[in-house]
Order: sequence, then structure tokens, then C-alpha cells
Amino acid sequence: MKCYIEGKRNSKVPNVDRENGIAVANEISDLCGESFNVANEARSKSKKSKFNDTGLVAAVCRHDRVWYLVNMTEAGEKQYYMFAILDKIFQEIPGNFTVGFLHDLACQYHRSMMKWKILPKWANRILFGLPALHAYGHQFVCQITYHPHKIEAFGRTDGKGTERFWNSISPLICVC
Ligand SMILES: [Zn+2]
Repeated sequence: MKCYIEGKRNSKVPNVDRENGIAVANEISDLCGESFNVANEARSKSKKSKFNDTGLVAAVCRHDRVWYLVNMTEAGEKQYYMFAILDKIFQEIPGNFTVGFLHDLACQYHRSMMKWKILPKWANRILFGLPALHAYGHQFVCQITYHPHKIEAFGRTDGKGTERFWNSISPLICVC
């Protein structure tokens, strides 16, 4: 099965990077990645601390229920945390299920998976999308390729379930 995004959009979007199988050209994807790196570096600098764990990565379902939480052990958000979660999810769901993956940087995850052949046995069962509000921070081609409201399977999902989850557990965080 071909990824819905590729099959539906490659023919309409110019400068398709057919080598990597994604609809967004490398130059465009680089711009998205660079803006993320600047933000992530600033965050990483402020997060270097005396603690072993530097944060949490969460995967929640469509109903904002937590599927997995992973401890981060390095400053900055690394893609391998989410790849580990995706791998685990695919090991536990039926073989004919497709996973809709909404993430602030879904374009970068999609590119990495295709370019570096990460999780190749699952890659064609993932629909990549940006959270509805985050999409506007991406390059225009990225917006029209990954906006969840332009991808049939996502319905009205906004992709902000993790933010609602963080908010729900905020009383557990002490101000030390
Ligand atoms: Zn992007």
C-alpha cells in the first residue's frame, strides 16, 4: 500500500523529491528543519541540568489517552524517541491498521524515515500530518501536504492531544 499523502499529492506538488518518496522537496524541508533546529538549540541550552532525565515524550491516541511515555535522557527532542514509540505501537496493533502520526515536525520525521530507511516495515502504514495550528509555522508546500484538515483520514483531529495531556498532569509538577 502506498502512503496516502504520497499517492494523493505527488502529482499536484511541484519539485517532488521522488528519490526519497516524499512530496516536499529537500530545499523546502531544509527550511522547516532549520527553523526547528534554532528553536531546539535554544531549548537545549536552557535544559542542560543536573538531572538524568531531561523530559518526557508522550504518544496519545485520538482521544488524548496516553499510549506510551518515554523518558528523555538528553537535552533536546531527538527523533529516535518517537521512532521507538512508533515501533512499539506497530508491534501491538493488527497488521492491517494504519497509524496517523501528527507531530509538530511530522515533515522532518517523514523525511528521515524515507531517507534513512528507518522502520521500513512500518513506513508505508503511517500517515504523516502536522497539528492544525503548527502547520502554519511550516513552509507553504509543507502546509498543503501535511495539514491534517487536508488529509481525509484525520477528520477534525487537531493533533494537540499531548498538550491537553501535559495540562492535565500539570498539578503534579512542583515548583522547586
Ligand atoms: Zn515542514
